[in-house]
Amino acid sequence: MTISCFAALSPKSELQPYEYKEPALQPHELLIEITHCGLCHSDIHLIDNDWNKSVYPLVPGHEIVGHIVKTGSSVSHLKVGERVGVSWQHGSCLNCDYCLEGNENICLQKTMTCVGRFGGFATKMVADSRFAFPIPKEIDSSLAAPLLCAGAAVFTPMIHSHIQGRHAIGVIGIGGLGHLGLQYAKALGCTVVAITRRKNKQKEAEGFGADEVICIENPGDVEKTTGKLDLILSTAPSAQDWVKVLSLLKQNGTLCFIGKPVEAVKVPAGLLTSSQKKITGSTVAPRWIMREMFRFSQRHGILPQIEQMPMKEINRAIGRLKKGDVRFRFVLTN
Ligand SMILES: [Zn+2]
Ligand SMILES: [Zn+2]
Repeated sequence: MTISCFAALSPKSELQPYEYKEPALQPHELLIEITHCGLCHSDIHLIDNDWNKSVYPLVPGHEIVGHIVKTGSSVSHLKVGERVGVSWQHGSCLNCDYCLEGNENICLQKTMTCVGRFGGFATKMVADSRFAFPIPKEIDSSLAAPLLCAGAAVFTPMIHSHIQGRHAIGVIGIGGLGHLGLQYAKALGCTVVAITRRKNKQKEAEGFGADEVICIENPGDVEKTTGKLDLILSTAPSAQDWVKVLSLLKQNGTLCFIGKPVEAVKVPAGLLTSSQKKITGSTVAPRWIMREMFRFSQRHGILPQIEQMPMKEINRAIGRLKKGDVRFRFVLTN
């Protein structure tokens, strides 16, 4: 049996139809028949080898939803036919201090869905059953897919920062991640500020829960928000004026990177010492937060705005995402 997929055969190349032999399942693994897979900016970074860790042929796609068609011999918590989602992380050691603390997403031995294994732009895939997440029945598969990476990525730092309604949150970038970040922050009861370079998405940002939309290039906007925010989530894939961004934080406030611009982040250390502002990062979600994220999304009706395309049009979707021409997430369907 073979699995049909779309693969990049070299850095920066278009995806090609590709086939590989269906692997024999390890005891803890699942074979999933894929119905939907979201397209994330990280897929483009992987195709282009921006992080020097890509392995070719590379099958991207890590917002995967499908049905289990086969289970390994030791899988007892999931059944054939069940609908599950698979995200960026393929697995972890499950035994180190980080894993035992519920921080599997930072395990030093973690493995990735699309690095050295084949991802979700495919008919099927093999997943680790311990990193496959049942999806609440109220959430449609097409809408569940982007929650697995984009949703989990913006929800996690809010949980880790103990965000509550008394806090004010800024979200940089109103794209696939940002439009979900605004919704989570609003549902948590926060004051929500969307931070953009252009105000072309103002109406949409307000629709997702932004109390204010500010343009980082506009001195008046920056001035009125200076010192107001507890947490800023940076979801943009490109560099910003980080000194200006830091000025928006309260003392002790946190700038958290989720999007990964390739450029170095340069700020004077003095901006951090006297204010105790923090710069940190966050990567997708540990398993317990992934579950919480699905429960919270279902309870509060937080769903992505998507555009669906057949999987065979993946290169067209990638081309449009590179131009920023998507409202707000592509989901490819089989
Ligand atoms: Zn992603
Ligand atoms: Zn570990």
